[in-house]
Amino acid sequence: MNKIEHIGIAVKDLETSNLIFEKLFGVPHYKTETVESEGVKTSFFKTGTNKIELLEAMNPNSPIAKFIDKKGEGIHHIAFDVNDIELEIKRLKNEGFVVINETPKKGADNKLVAFLHPKSTNGVLIELCQERINKE
Ligand code: ZN
Repeated sequence: MNKIEHIGIAVKDLETSNLIFEKLFGVPHYKTETVESEGVKTSFFKTGTNKIELLEAMNPNSPIAKFIDKKGEGIHHIAFDVNDIELEIKRLKNEGFVVINETPKKGADNKLVAFLHPKSTNGVLIELCQERINKE
């Protein structure tokens, strides 16, 4: 696993939170993106070399809606950059971690992503991210 690619924060209202984090960081978000497969709207901020992703649910079945129902707004996941996501999934499964989606899917920001279930990682939802090579 490589560096932290980004930190994901679950929010109830993206527009409201964009303003809060804009004030906090002193920079505006640099893009918003919809991820249909997850039912979320996202926005991204950069601070130095860090990347922060805000996530708002687009429907009540979205994992973000369920998270906010249970825990309220806040840090939702930590994403790590990986070189070869398929290999990393295999390695982590062998180590006994529970992979939520064993087939990597398209995430925001031109990434292939997979998630590890927080029950196997001390309550922390971990996202694996691999940069996609061909942008279709
Ligand atoms: Zn993420």
